Amino acid sequence: MVSTFELEIVNSTNKKEKPSQDQVPFGTIFTDHMLTMEYSSDQGWHEPKITPYAPITLDPAAMIFHYGQTVFEGMKAYRTEDGRVLLFRPEKNFERLNLSSERLSIPPVDEKLMLEYLTKLIELEKDWVPSTPGTSLYIRPFIISTEANLAVAPAQSYKFMVILSPVGSYFPGGMKPVIIHVEDQFTRAVKGGTGMAKTAGNYSSGYQAQAQAKQAGNADVLWLDGVEKKYIEEVGSMNIFFKIDGEVLTPELNGSILKGITRTSIIELLNSWGIPVTERKISIQEIYQAFADGKIEEVFGTGTAAVISPVGELNWQGRKMVVNNHEIGELSQKLYDTITSIQTGKVEDALGWTV
Ligand code: PMP
Repeated sequence: MVSTFELEIVNSTNKKEKPSQDQVPFGTIFTDHMLTMEYSSDQGWHEPKITPYAPITLDPAAMIFHYGQTVFEGMKAYRTEDGRVLLFRPEKNFERLNLSSERLSIPPVDEKLMLEYLTKLIELEKDWVPSTPGTSLYIRPFIISTEANLAVAPAQSYKFMVILSPVGSYFPGGMKPVIIHVEDQFTRAVKGGTGMAKTAGNYSSGYQAQAQAKQAGNADVLWLDGVEKKYIEEVGSMNIFFKIDGEVLTPELNGSILKGITRTSIIELLNSWGIPVTERKISIQEIYQAFADGKIEEVFGTGTAAVISPVGELNWQGRKMVVNNHEIGELSQKLYDTITSIQTGKVEDALGWTV
């Protein structure tokens, strides 16, 4: 008999067929097992389990359905050429999960223990980590409030889960610069709001703006600050960087921007190359002026999904800013190559980022 605080593992006896590596639409196929853990106000987090992947049952009054008290993370496991499986700075994801939880009044998890459990889950599912270049196993940890109660207050019970999904390459035909709409009507986040947390409502509240931008031929939106619509924040699920007149710039963390782990890594990597990164408020007017002066060299988004996504064009109030002739910038390419080589163990991990 395992204690309620020891990890229990129940192996699946009905293994699924693995998909062909390149033809998997993002987030549609899940592996054989999942990790779950319960929280109650009297026992704290308990009953960690790895069990066969299966639907869960919730009361219709479960608080997650009504007030959206939930947080999530997104990370990846990569296959190396010699067959090992690497995680990229996973401790940072659990650290951010707890930061998000604090903002959403969700009790924190033990970050070290979660990484230990995740490692056990990945070990069990290692055959699901694809090996074709650009592919990986996407890891989705999340917490939902489960108490059946319509009171508008933090729940007394929660469920923590980790599910895994093999994903194809973000850029199947190679890296390709995207067209981005600068959003000046809808707002993603405001100072004092939940923008710095990875929580469901931040994403669904962006769908309307994203749909309109897509209809007009853009891949995504670049959010501006929610008050003046003047300062640049971030793209849908990416942070953003500019190279202007030799200087690398990114918006400073202001409480409404998500602190991307790729963003942090890019800053640290550039610093290690002797290239400083300026983190400050950047107005869209300033970017437009730099464009008009012919000083914008590169623009790129950063995130777990794409690592680097070069921006080839920004559309702001009917004004089109073409960046680097829609071509991939030299720095964007170098950052992409370096980080993906570290993630897949192709180069020495001098910064100690992989586990
Ligand atoms: N901003 C938002 C809103 C995101 O959802 C993400 C993806 N997690 C990012 C930025 C990039 O973060 P990361 O580099 O940790 O993936």
